[in-house]
Parts: sequence; structure tokens; C-alpha cells
Amino acid sequence: MTMLKTHLKTTEAQTEAATMIRVRGLSKQYAKTDSPALCEISFEVERGAFVTVLGRSGSGKTTLFRCLNRLIIPDAGEILIDGHSLTRLKGPALRDLRQGVATIFQQFNLIKRLTVLENVLAARLPYIPLWRIMLREFSRPDREWAYYCLERIGMSEYAGRRADTLSGGQQQRVAIARALAQQPIVILADEPIASLDPESATIVLEELKAISKTEGITVLCSLHQEAFALRYGARIIGLNRGHIAVDVPCEHFTAEQRDLIYSVSASNAPSNLS
Ligand code: ADP
Ligand code: MG
Repeated sequence: MTMLKTHLKTTEAQTEAATMIRVRGLSKQYAKTDSPALCEISFEVERGAFVTVLGRSGSGKTTLFRCLNRLIIPDAGEILIDGHSLTRLKGPALRDLRQGVATIFQQFNLIKRLTVLENVLAARLPYIPLWRIMLREFSRPDREWAYYCLERIGMSEYAGRRADTLSGGQQQRVAIARALAQQPIVILADEPIASLDPESATIVLEELKAISKTEGITVLCSLHQEAFALRYGARIIGLNRGHIAVDVPCEHFTAEQRDLIYSVSASNAPSNLS
């Protein structure tokens, strides 16, 4: 009996250690709206996994990501990142946890008039004294680190260029370097290819996938195109009107599941269909 208990405890601890993101009963409704943007959603993401979140416009992808990086506070539910509660932590512990979660946006969100290197350095801001930021005088180790992150995604030759002189695809790759510079355990990429041509989209998704694999970073990437989700994700979490309509490995993705994600009459979709 004792042995069984010990075994169960060990198995539980191992499962815990293998889970990077755990979302339980997450709900969010915006003020002055008729229905929730997220409705009691639950899922887990394994450490180091690359998972795509697929759904039409308005299905709740951005709201989910904004809860995961705590830009907004959910109405109900719990989020654990690497075993720490994002919904309960406060102060420096919360700041540290948020620093571990990097976000990549559809519109890149680079500071246009700064150089590529300075944009990547921006990810180091929590570690840089204010006077250095004011004078734009960054330390050598910080510069070297930012340069290494650019090199990591093949963009170091653009280090001195103003961010707004780059193409969309190049800007998004700089945004990936900036995310890397943050030394995250999780990257949330919210429709990172929605503003890109197919060729740049492919490069960006390949970079994200490579980072996930080589650095062991857990990546949650939202997309609205099924073809890209199938090509790059190992698993698809499909959102429809704030519900999880599908949660399957890509190789098991069927036409019926596609319909569950894209159908417009899924307001009563079950929250845990897998
Ligand atoms: P997606 O990213 O999949 O397009 P969103 O999370 O942006 O979906 O939106 C989910 C739902 O929440 C939509 O119905 C949208 O209109 C609504 N919504 C999103 N942001 C706000 C907001 N700031 N205020 C009110 N409603 C919002
Ligand atoms: Mg969105």
C-alpha cells in the first residue's frame, strides 16, 4: 500500500514537472458584451511543446493569450505556469514569472525609430538601470547578449538598422530575437504570421519551431489558417466562441473537427472534446 502511494506520488510529481502550462476553468467576459470571450476552458501544455491554437477571428485566441501573459485578469479559473499560479502571485514573484513569458504580436510591436539591436535590448529592460536606458548606454554584456539573440535567428547583419526600414517578415524575426533575449520559458505567439506573405510566414514559423526544439521553450502559437497549424504544430487546440472545440494531435485532425472549430453555430460547444 505504502509502495503504491509512493508510486502514485512520484507519477503525480513527474506529470507536474512535465507540464509547463496548466489552465483550469478559465472564463472571461468583457464589460458590455452579451457572451463570454472565454468560457470555462481547461487544457495543459507539456514542457517544450509547440502547440497551435486555431480559431476564427473572435473565437477568443487573443483573450486567452492576454490572460496567459496577465495583460488582463480572468473572471474565473486558474493558470499555472511551470507550477506557479499566475492568477495568485503578486509583487516581485509575479514580475519574475511574467518575465518568463514572452509574447510575439501580429503587428510585431517594435519601436520603429530604434535600431534592431536596441529593440532586442528592450527585452533586457527589467535588468538594466534606468540611467543606462535614459542615455541609451547599454552595457557590453547586454549588447553581446542581444547580438547573440539576433545571430540565433540569422538577423545580426541588421543590428544597426532602424526597425522601420525592415520588411514585415524581418521585423517579426527581430521580435522573435527580442523574445529570446527575455530568456523565456514560454513564448506566446499571437497570430505571428497574420500580417505576412506566405514565404515570410513559413520562415517565421520555422524559426519559432526551431527555437522550441533547440532551446526547449514551450510555444503556444495562435493561427487562423488550418494548413499552417497542421504543418507546424504537433497538437491543435481549436477554439470556437470561447470554448475548446477540439484538442488533438495534428495527425488525428479530421474534417469533422475542422467543422467544430469553424462552424458558426457552436455557442454550445462542449468545453472538453478531445
Ligand atoms: P480572436 O483573437 O480569436 O480574434 P478575441 O480574443 O480578440 O478573439 O475576441 C474574443 C471575443 O471578445 C470577440 O467577440 C471580441 O469581439 C471580444 N472582445 C475582444 N476584446 C474585447 C474588448 N476589449 N472589449 C470588448 N469585447 C472584446
Ligand atoms: Mg486575435
